[in-house]
Amino acid sequence: MILLKHFRHYYIKYGLAFLVGLAILVAVDWFQLEIPRIIKVIINGVEGIEGFTLITSINQIWAPLLTILGIVVGMTVGRFLWRITLIGNSRRIETDIRSEMFKHATELDQNFYSNEKIGGLMSYFINDLNAVKELYGFGLLMLVDGLVLGGFVLVRMFSLNWEMTLYAAIPLALMGVLVFFLELKMEKKFKLRQESFESMSDFSQESFSGITVIKAYVREAVESLRFTKKSKDVFDKSMDHLKYSVVVNVIIDAMISLVILAILAFGAILIAKGNLSSGELTEYITYFFTLLWPVFAISSFMNINGQAQASAKRIAEFLDSKPSVVDGPNAIKNVTLDGSISVSHLSFTYPDSEKPTLKDMSFEVKPGEMVGILGRTGSGKSTLVELFLHLYNTEKGMIRFGGYDLMELSLATLREHIGYVPQDNFLYSDTIKNNIGFAYTSIDNERLIQVAKISDIHENVLEFKDGYETMLGERGATISGGQKQRVSIARALAKEPKVLILDDSVSAVDTKTEEAIITNLRQVRKGKTTLMIAHRISTVKKLDKIVVIDQGQVVGVGTHAELMKTLPLYQEMVKLQELEELVGEVEAHA
Ligand code: ATP
Ligand code: MG
Repeated sequence: MILLKHFRHYYIKYGLAFLVGLAILVAVDWFQLEIPRIIKVIINGVEGIEGFTLITSINQIWAPLLTILGIVVGMTVGRFLWRITLIGNSRRIETDIRSEMFKHATELDQNFYSNEKIGGLMSYFINDLNAVKELYGFGLLMLVDGLVLGGFVLVRMFSLNWEMTLYAAIPLALMGVLVFFLELKMEKKFKLRQESFESMSDFSQESFSGITVIKAYVREAVESLRFTKKSKDVFDKSMDHLKYSVVVNVIIDAMISLVILAILAFGAILIAKGNLSSGELTEYITYFFTLLWPVFAISSFMNINGQAQASAKRIAEFLDSKPSVVDGPNAIKNVTLDGSISVSHLSFTYPDSEKPTLKDMSFEVKPGEMVGILGRTGSGKSTLVELFLHLYNTEKGMIRFGGYDLMELSLATLREHIGYVPQDNFLYSDTIKNNIGFAYTSIDNERLIQVAKISDIHENVLEFKDGYETMLGERGATISGGQKQRVSIARALAKEPKVLILDDSVSAVDTKTEEAIITNLRQVRKGKTTLMIAHRISTVKKLDKIVVIDQGQVVGVGTHAELMKTLPLYQEMVKLQELEELVGEVEAHA
């Protein structure tokens, strides 16, 4: 029930606080039940019932009234304390689970993120985590309070009049069974609601990320309509869930009223027969009213528990999902790689794909070489460098880095040696300085300016009002595509990596800037390996070596001059691009 996989160890971790909180809770429940007894003594005393001290003056009730006041004050303090400890615990547990989930999310591989939508993942962090937190806080509290207070009250009610209590307990027990079955149904409804919410959340996430596309295609109204439909579905599912909760509560209320009626009737008969005093009936009714909270608490607990079970299961499944890209037990760590890369009969098929993306690729990169990887769109260039980063698994022997088999190198050691500029140039909504210094806690200014100059972005940054402290919008939205590319290059350079990989990183800058960057790189990257992926011949023309890729295969390796002589595809690309440039120039002059 409340011992959920992945989460039960928190009872031990926060055991002391749980125990203190629950002990105070039990004490409050116990003292609370002293009040009806004192009331009985006062009523029976006033009525002059045998066995009770006759109360004739107002002065006689001060003492019992003060006792009640004392208990009420004590209960208030106690309630405050157990709420702080138990609810506080639930917050601590929530924070712990959240950190564990985030850590796990960062360890999951590329494949997980290709298949899972971010909105769904966020829903684990918000809705599901909240449901589990509620169970640890209010849920646990209601369960224990319900059982303890309910138990105490029932014992007292039985000892006061067992027959009447039996009549009261039977409908209550029936109510419990009914509520239980309604709960099962409610859990299903909650799950449906959650799924619908996730779908809506995914939809909004994608719409906001792609807002430019929506505007450009004038799809605002259509998208709003689609959202309304999704939102309506969430509403329907929520109402369905709500209706059930309401039914449960209404049934409880009706049953309670009926039972009170029965107690009054039964009590009146007993008093008439002389088997019960009016003070005792008042005490009894007070107990019964006290019993309402436990019944409510337990039904609420079942509600919270039902939701938390579904959520905990999803969180557990998420935490149990194993990343497929992990360090082996004997992963090679703390070695220095020389920057050489050897690709040998490399074939690769994406996990969810049927056709191979890379086929029998072989080529060598020597330490310190500047190598271009050229190929048409979709030929497999990005895939190849993602494999160099070990974002996906390959077979042993296919890729070697610095002489070590890529599959045997520890992920951290491998990636520490690589500076990667991804094709989508992802930047954080942070300052330019922090984006460039991402690999460090803090980057010193000298280094910052040095790498910015190499990437030919320094002058641009100085033109911004806040210079390097300029805040970028989400995903770097407030600077131009070419500026983004150059900030990304500076970020990778700041690491001073043994191997620098630029995935189509100068495609958005003009040829003059491109040339400046390449010249700078050649100077600062002496002795270190640089891989430049490109579509444009101009990017790779002057590099030490060019690897030409077509449809996932290496079709030629050599210098520009060599390829011009030997590779018809390369000649064709050169001709085509020269033609494109010519057309561009003519258009520019026209
Ligand atoms: P571009 O120059 O346009 O960036 P590219 O050479 O970098 O192209 P890749 O991104 O490596 O091309 O893609 C090669 C092929 O692999 C494409 O056909 C693409 O559809 C496929 N592909 C890319 N990513 C995945 C993925 N995560 N799952 C399945 N197939 C993929
Ligand atoms: Mg690509």
